Amino acid sequence: MDVVCVFTGSRAGASEDYRDAAVSLAKEIAARNITLVYGGGHVGLMGAAADAALAAGGSVIGVIPEDIADKEVEHTGLTQLHVVSSMHERKMKMFKLSNGMIAMPGGLGTLEELFEVWTWNQLGFHAKPVGLLNVGGYFDHLLEFLDHMVEQGFVEQLHRDLLLEDTDPARLLDRMAAYQPDATR
Ligand code: AMP
Repeated sequence: MDVVCVFTGSRAGASEDYRDAAVSLAKEIAARNITLVYGGGHVGLMGAAADAALAAGGSVIGVIPEDIADKEVEHTGLTQLHVVSSMHERKMKMFKLSNGMIAMPGGLGTLEELFEVWTWNQLGFHAKPVGLLNVGGYFDHLLEFLDHMVEQGFVEQLHRDLLLEDTDPARLLDRMAAYQPDATR
């Protein structure tokens, strides 16, 4: 896995722990010579992750739609910045550039991006690992609800299991690197 996409908040969240985790994940990505792909903004956890990877000598590629470049303050110090014309183009470009995707704490945009790549995996459109960095229990309720979806017969356990969850950035990256798609699904 030499290119990983990180989906995370355009806000920083209520605790410093989220920023610390974004920095740790980005440093770990850079230390492994993995290129970081993300939404291209300079705000919130997105910006914190990009800055940390760059400071650690890593390569960072941003993909930002032209109409939100102002709002999310396009990052001007990236290795590469792609300005695209729509959200859909952004998501497709980020997906195509990457061989794995990680979501970490964020808002509606982060969830939307996570669920899109996860459902594409469920449908067999790709077999790239999809990871979730659960910082400070932020996603606990969501994970409980996902188990409830399985119990209630709307999601198959094998599709639920496609999401690799961890609380530690290095362990999550190790698990994603070792990910073997299940040929039987
Ligand atoms: P948020 O998690 O809401 O702070 O947003 C994180 C990132 O997701 C930001 O770069 C948003 O521009 C992006 N985003 C928000 N909504 C969408 C969407 N519908 N599709 C793709 N990206 C989105």
